[in-house]
Amino acid sequence: MSATRLTADSLYRFFRAGEEETFALQGVGLQVEKGEIVAVTGPSGSGKTTLLSCLAGLDEPDGGTVHVAGERLSHQQEHLRSRLRARYIGVLFQSGNLLEHLTVRDNIRLVQGISGGTDRPGVHELLRDVGVAPRAGALPRQLSGGEAARAGLAVALANNPAVLLADELTGEVDGETERRVLALLRERARAGTAMVLVTHSRAVAAVADRVLRLRDGRWVR
Ligand code: ADP
Ligand code: MG
Repeated sequence: MSATRLTADSLYRFFRAGEEETFALQGVGLQVEKGEIVAVTGPSGSGKTTLLSCLAGLDEPDGGTVHVAGERLSHQQEHLRSRLRARYIGVLFQSGNLLEHLTVRDNIRLVQGISGGTDRPGVHELLRDVGVAPRAGALPRQLSGGEAARAGLAVALANNPAVLLADELTGEVDGETERRVLALLRERARAGTAMVLVTHSRAVAAVADRVLRLRDGRWVR
């Protein structure tokens, strides 16, 4: 693997609803190196979630390409995208990434089971790092907002991803929890994980190596 973990080349994405067309991404490029944290900011509707979805291979760009760990993720068959995602990417969206009928512990085991890798942290260690070890046996609906966010982060990190993609990761947590989460992210970045963090938080932007701003589907220079 070269040091570049994630490359997006001139991404375009538009949505059509009847007469109305929305240009959510209009030629967005991005390159993230091993261990680098990139924060993405921008007003509501500027394309942040659409960009993350394309980077995660959960959505297909209408133009442009995405490569992760040197492999093409965009315009691949769904099963190939799923495999690359399981192997290389940790995803944390606002909708959450916890399956409702599984305990926190089993959510992590599930992700580790399908990732296929061997170099991954233990379940207890992951939960301890995000400060929710005592909640390992809880179901997602039994967690507070902050606990759910942290358990979601543990799930996103469970496959020891080359790339972590998170949408408003610390949106629902208090200041102390945010500091703890950010310290963990810095530590993971030091260990090599590349990150793209969509955020409105100054604290998150402050730990980033670069802060990029989207407006109307384009980078603001
Ligand atoms: P942000 O995350 O920055 O708030 P989004 O990426 O969610 O922005 O949305 C960018 C633009 O694309 C918005 O105008 C939004 O309404 C539109 N959009 C996003 N997803 C869809 C969709 N599935 N169908 C139609 N329009 C969408
Ligand atoms: Mg969004």
